[in-house]
Amino acid sequence: MTKKVRVRFAPSPTGGLHLGGVRTVLYNYLFAKQNGGDFIVRIEDTDQTRFVEGAEEYIFKTLEWCGLQPDESPKHGGQFAPYRQSERKESYRKYAEELVAKGFAYYAFDTAEELDTKRKEIANFQYSHSTRNAMKNSLTLSVEETKKLLDENAQHVVRVKLQPNEEIKFTDLIRGEVHFDTTQVDDKVLLKADGMPTYHLAVVVDDYAMQITHAFRGEEWLPSAPVHIFLWDKLFGLENMPQWAHLPLILKPDGNGKLSKRDGDRLGFPVFAMDWTNAANELSRGFKERGFLPEAFINMLAMLGWNAGTEQEIFTLNELIEKFSLERVHKGGAKFDYEKAKWFNHKWIMQPENCEVLLEQYQDLIPSYFRSKPDDYIIEVLGLVRERCSDIDDLITNSSFFFQTPETIDVAAIQPKWDEKKKAFFETLTSDWQNNFASDAASLEQQFKAIAEAQQIKVGELMLPLRIMLVGGKFGPGVFDIATIIGKEETIKRIENVVASLR
Ligand code: GLU
Repeated sequence: MTKKVRVRFAPSPTGGLHLGGVRTVLYNYLFAKQNGGDFIVRIEDTDQTRFVEGAEEYIFKTLEWCGLQPDESPKHGGQFAPYRQSERKESYRKYAEELVAKGFAYYAFDTAEELDTKRKEIANFQYSHSTRNAMKNSLTLSVEETKKLLDENAQHVVRVKLQPNEEIKFTDLIRGEVHFDTTQVDDKVLLKADGMPTYHLAVVVDDYAMQITHAFRGEEWLPSAPVHIFLWDKLFGLENMPQWAHLPLILKPDGNGKLSKRDGDRLGFPVFAMDWTNAANELSRGFKERGFLPEAFINMLAMLGWNAGTEQEIFTLNELIEKFSLERVHKGGAKFDYEKAKWFNHKWIMQPENCEVLLEQYQDLIPSYFRSKPDDYIIEVLGLVRERCSDIDDLITNSSFFFQTPETIDVAAIQPKWDEKKKAFFETLTSDWQNNFASDAASLEQQFKAIAEAQQIKVGELMLPLRIMLVGGKFGPGVFDIATIIGKEETIKRIENVVASLR
């Protein structure tokens, strides 16, 4: 019988979830669901110095917003609980000791000062096969000395011990066979002085304990893979090891290196899924708060490093579950393009059958003055303007004048060509509309054109002034649609106010 597919996303709670992190979740999730498997979230919080308050909660809120719900996690429970490594602390030491007993790890007693001295003596000092024999550890001390120190509870760590000049290889589902030379691998700490495991030991022990069958993670973890493979081999036998896939990096827009939060700040686009405020109280705006619909965010992320091999670019989550394949994940990094991301969002903004969905999604993002109008009115406006929008800023710019009289009017764009004839036209128009204001845009347009014709003025010369009178500038949807929605009183008031200010 084949094993049930079990994948995991294993974030360290050190900050907001970067779009690369959400893409890792997504590929894990798609693979699990495609294979009828389980998606597990395990919180890797063994590095207490990097722990950030609120980060775990943020991760779960993000997954909820994205619609990528875990089957097992500290929040959702599960038969392999606990899912926070700090709560599994006691389970790791025995494996570290087993490795020591088998000769694949050792106790190291060097103090922080001793290590510092070494770093000063030797340029680029690394604790490794080339230096371990000159350090204070169970390889250089006698059995009795080591025992004595352990009995005295002397501070120590456990380090991994690989022989140099050997080869470690494994098959990556994206990269094929990957080889490493053990000479390059340093003696990483497995168990820290405080008794906590490091990530390297904990990730292996927990993937085993939680019966993980496939481990997909970012390419930045590839250099750690030889240690993980080594530990798997020595502790649990390679045949039980999950299948690995190291996902391509998400690159800066110019392709020069990994996309970072700073690139977002510098170039003015989000990199976090949702708003994130760091310890220095600096807010980074998220995709959610920029008005991305979760479907668009997911769709865009899916295509950053994968394609279906067809022209299709717009996918629902269910379609992605059906179509996703690791074979089509690219080996090379994927350049992030914010304009393309907005293109996806625009496509999704246009998707919902009715705009109620948009109102629901944008509940917390629309300005409070929109609330002076009933939901039906807001929905009608969203329906009219969404064609012009790819984020919340576009949406606000293109609809604020439906809710309030424009604060600034680009009078300078009308004034140069303003004359008595035009003034007379707008006076006739307002008195006409005062008596008979049609209820649909097409009829309003007809009324408008009829007066223009009667007064022998080109309609083309009147449209821009009308638009500016109603919205304040040269933007927005169809001008007669606007008039219909804001209604007779408001339309006439806006025209009269601007006419009065022109000379
Ligand atoms: N805790 C690691 C991280 O923060 C997990 C890497 C892995 O999936 O093995 O990304």
